[in-house]
Amino acid sequence: MTDPQSKTEIRLQGIGVSPGIASGPVELLKSSLEEPEHISVPRIEVKTEKERLSKAIVSTRQQIISMQQVLDSDTNSDEINIFDAHLLLLEDSSVLEEVVRLVENDLKSVDWAYYKVIKRYVDSLRKISDPYLRERAVDIEDVAQRVLKNLRWPDGDAQGLALKGDTAIVLAHDLTPSDTVSFDRSKVLGFATEAGTPTSHTAIMARSLNIPAVVALHKFPENCYPGDDVLIDGYHGLVILNPTAETRKEYEALVEQEAGVLSDLRELKDAGTHTIDGRKIVLSANIEFKKELQDVKDEGAEGVGLYRTEYFYINEKELRGEEKQTGIYTAVAQAVAPHGAIIRTLDIGGDKLCPDLFENPEPNPFLGWRGIRSSLDRVDEFKDQLRAILRASAHGKVGLMYPFISSLEEIRSANAILEECKEELRGKGIAFSEDIEVGAMIEIPSAVLVADHLAKEVDFFSIGTNDLIQYTTAVDRVNDRVADLYRPTHPAVIKLLKETVEAAHRNDIWCGVCGEAASDPIMAPIWVGLEVDELSVGAAQVLRMRRAISRLDTEECKQLLESVYNCGLASEVHDICEEKARAAYPELLL
Ligand code: PEP
Ligand code: MG
Repeated sequence: MTDPQSKTEIRLQGIGVSPGIASGPVELLKSSLEEPEHISVPRIEVKTEKERLSKAIVSTRQQIISMQQVLDSDTNSDEINIFDAHLLLLEDSSVLEEVVRLVENDLKSVDWAYYKVIKRYVDSLRKISDPYLRERAVDIEDVAQRVLKNLRWPDGDAQGLALKGDTAIVLAHDLTPSDTVSFDRSKVLGFATEAGTPTSHTAIMARSLNIPAVVALHKFPENCYPGDDVLIDGYHGLVILNPTAETRKEYEALVEQEAGVLSDLRELKDAGTHTIDGRKIVLSANIEFKKELQDVKDEGAEGVGLYRTEYFYINEKELRGEEKQTGIYTAVAQAVAPHGAIIRTLDIGGDKLCPDLFENPEPNPFLGWRGIRSSLDRVDEFKDQLRAILRASAHGKVGLMYPFISSLEEIRSANAILEECKEELRGKGIAFSEDIEVGAMIEIPSAVLVADHLAKEVDFFSIGTNDLIQYTTAVDRVNDRVADLYRPTHPAVIKLLKETVEAAHRNDIWCGVCGEAASDPIMAPIWVGLEVDELSVGAAQVLRMRRAISRLDTEECKQLLESVYNCGLASEVHDICEEKARAAYPELLL
């Protein structure tokens, strides 16, 4: 901890990715294995050391199992089981025997012995060119970090994070989605990372867990220590180290204001979503894990507008077959009834790499074998997923959509395979909805430019702004060095949005938006002016967006769009939208 005399307030500007304000002591999360103190133990202590190891392994096992349950509270089903591989690594007998040998023969502390053995495995895996084996190094480190924490704090809470105090703000270089999902929400008040971007999956997760978060801070100051006071302002992307009394007071007022806004918004939970002039927009939610379905209901979302199916596929090989997938999709459809669920076929590739499908690393994964491309090349697996989605449609309102569409050929090929699946099910007398809606994600500029053709082959479009912005402006969505160039209000993006919605409506199909920009209150005047039919947002953003839409008028927003179309600068578009948003719902833009 710093000397209280030397504490001056330091403000760090990053990007706010999950709204809210939180303050507490700093917890620095190391991203790699930390070497414990090199301690020798007297022979008489060997037995105790071995017992400590057994206890740490048992605690780690329990923590991994309870994390699985966080991901899926439905413990009766054998679904979502992300950490099975970690359990196997944890109990690997060759590792444990080697550690015990070092303790017994060389009289080393079990912490140091465990670290040394694991480090050797990790280092040798890192040298191997096979990406699957290299990935395993990350898993081993992840498990080992937990074991080391449990050795160090045997009676403490090493679940996800070994917090020394009761609550903390986590500062880390970067976090994985699994780090984020393992946070104990009552202890981790907020987090900030040096890396990361608003559309990275950790940011998406922070929003769905409702944890204030700031990313892309590039570098924390050297003199930032565990236990220092820190305040996170997720609205403005600010991290304030050692806030002064004056800053605290300013933020206390903001927190009070925010609490009032959130309690007002609860009134909208069971309301529909309409503009001032009565135009309905469906406000649905994006999910990655089944456990988010409770939030979908609690936050009053009108169903699921995007179910990202690649997460269970990457993490749980045993769930890949048609039967298991049918069970998952049916459960999702039933949970959101009477609303519907749109299930997206696999969008593997880009930053969502599936080690067993990528034998050799691709030079440009975001331009590579991603989404529908990989599905069309793996027809048997694609058909398993399509049949599973079709079968779920017999039990609830289910739609399906294809990701990463760049051409008419892809839609036609995918639809031809879908027809084969329908025929197979009919042949076997297996029920499915003949009216199932089929959509295309519009997230690549070439798809926008042939949107009139695509619209004739599908029932709806869902605009994936996360990728549309990336591919239009050549800005990697997960690279924090170029994060400030990633602008949803770039005039080129606005033109493509306009083209897409107009093409959909010209061809009598509906058009939604499911990228992160759908949940941005500053973008709401654009969505209303474009007359989109659906917005699918993180569950925690549903009520804010319902409020924003309810304060906007379609004709006024159309006029606003006319001035937006004349802008050459992203900042001009942003300012026009912000001005409108501030006038209509200032409380949402604290
Ligand atoms: C998008 O690209 O906007 C989208 C919703 O899909 P993902 O973030 O999964 O690529
Ligand atoms: Mg996408």
